[in-house]
Amino acid sequence: MLGPSYRKNRRLEKIAEKKAQQYRTLHVKKGDLVKVLSGKDRGKEGRVIEVQAEKDRVLVEKVNLVKRHQRPTQQLQKGGIIEKENYIHCSKVALMCPHCKEQMRPKRSITDGVKTRVCRECNEPLDLK
Ligand SMILES: [Zn+2]
Repeated sequence: MLGPSYRKNRRLEKIAEKKAQQYRTLHVKKGDLVKVLSGKDRGKEGRVIEVQAEKDRVLVEKVNLVKRHQRPTQQLQKGGIIEKENYIHCSKVALMCPHCKEQMRPKRSITDGVKTRVCRECNEPLDLK
């Protein structure tokens, strides 16, 4: 039977879902070097230009290029067909170490109260400031 406690639980679940959505982060960040695992650009490597965490999508340079018909505007004098990156799903990309060029899962450590990601192989930090 679906009593009041069921409804209460459902409400709490919904709140938790919303919270998770707000604070969610993907396994890659802007500026990371990634490798594409599937799709037409499989095997390509590039930097992450933009992350859309709420939609699980990332924009990687020179990956998933689509042709756009561009009209001449004041900023862009020349119109015509231009190639632009399109979003791909985050599960299609793997994080790579920029130092040893290996696909890897970073080790997380805290130094001076700041969370950093470190490569397991070469112990180089990924987040360079
Ligand atoms: Zn490394």
